[in-house]
Amino acid sequence: MSHLQQITVLGATGSIGLSTLDVIARHPALYQVFALSGFSRLVELEALCMIYRPRYAVVPDERSARHLQSGLHAAGLATRVLFGEQGLCEVAAHPEVDAVMAAIVGAAGLKPTLAAVEAGKKVLLANKEALVMSGALFIDAVRRSGAVLLPIDSEHNAIFQCLPGDYARGLEQVGVRRILLTASGGPFRETPLAQLHEVSPEQACAHPNWSMGRKISVDSASMMNKGLELIEVCWLFNAKPAQVEVVIHPQSVIHSLVDYVDGSVLAQLGNPDMRTPISHALAWPQRIDSGVAPLDLFAIARLDFQAPDEQRFPCLRLARDAAEAGGSVPAMLNAANEVAVAAFLERRIRFPEIASIIEAVLNAEPGVAVESVEAVLAADRRARELAGQWLSRRG
Ligand code: NAD
Ligand code: MG
Repeated sequence: MSHLQQITVLGATGSIGLSTLDVIARHPALYQVFALSGFSRLVELEALCMIYRPRYAVVPDERSARHLQSGLHAAGLATRVLFGEQGLCEVAAHPEVDAVMAAIVGAAGLKPTLAAVEAGKKVLLANKEALVMSGALFIDAVRRSGAVLLPIDSEHNAIFQCLPGDYARGLEQVGVRRILLTASGGPFRETPLAQLHEVSPEQACAHPNWSMGRKISVDSASMMNKGLELIEVCWLFNAKPAQVEVVIHPQSVIHSLVDYVDGSVLAQLGNPDMRTPISHALAWPQRIDSGVAPLDLFAIARLDFQAPDEQRFPCLRLARDAAEAGGSVPAMLNAANEVAVAAFLERRIRFPEIASIIEAVLNAEPGVAVESVEAVLAADRRARELAGQWLSRRG
């Protein structure tokens, strides 16, 4: 690679954002930070700007932009501070940017991620909610613009690595029988069902294998994360929901598998550290050092597998049904889940009620076809409204 790749990191202050910057810092001859965005931890964002000296930084509003701009100016940095969704879209689509790490959490990442896609960038997709919401529209935009979409979610990155280069011809055409999507089962895999209504946000966020943001940690505990990932698999690899099987694998060493018609099953293994998929996607089709320790199979000693229990994890069933239904349903599922997870984190509802809210929202409104991003956002708003009504009825 001759020229220094210019990278925009959306959601730089988060778990994926920081891991991305860790990898970038290991390869100063390959990558340069073009823009960083943050939403709430703006002191951390300022510190990151001091280290990476990006051309742009993006914050939520004008007031915080002025504040950060004066701090950076006083430190002698030429970084320009932009704000809001428009600022995010600008740094995602900027002509000088080569690759965009889409690592904002939730529906808030949809527009900036689509802006990167429409500008034909190399898009490193961590923000699974954006793809779950907009599905066909997202994939059509990738095809139209010639963007290169690379999955950061460890399972999808693993599947991508186990598929042949021409998988876009269709899974049957390349001899794939099934995709085996692995799941850790989260912190409540073995908690007695009767105790699930007592679990706290702290327990839900204490993931056994991965250290992640709070929203995805709760999603892992409810297995909605796996449900969203199932929908993500369908869009990324043009799979039908029935071709995707979820396998609980508590050690999180196998990141997913591809089962071929001849009986070959290919898997990608590694330590549970997001710097591996991030490095893979950043350097693809080359390989770079990620800083991740080599896998020690003797220390791991054994790998276990079990089938998921849908009674314990109703979110998995709701997501599979949403994948089958298509249209606006996945966007509504995602939005209802975001409201429910926030309410759980604020201790307004109990853990099992996350699934109850989502089910109530999906039952309240039939799905419709979505032909525009505006229609997706309307479904998102409607689901948030219905979930809000559920919460206020509950008191
Ligand atoms: P996080 O909560 O640690 O970080 C989220 C980032 O998004 C932060 O930089 C935050 O400032 C920003 N943000 C939050 N709300 C925003 C808003 N309304 N507008 C603009 N920016 C906003 O989350 P994370 O764990 O880094 O996850 C980020 C994304 O990556 C999620 O979609 C998650 O599902 C996905 N992902 C994460 C992991 C992981 O290991 N952490 C693994 C796979 C996929
Ligand atoms: Mg994952």
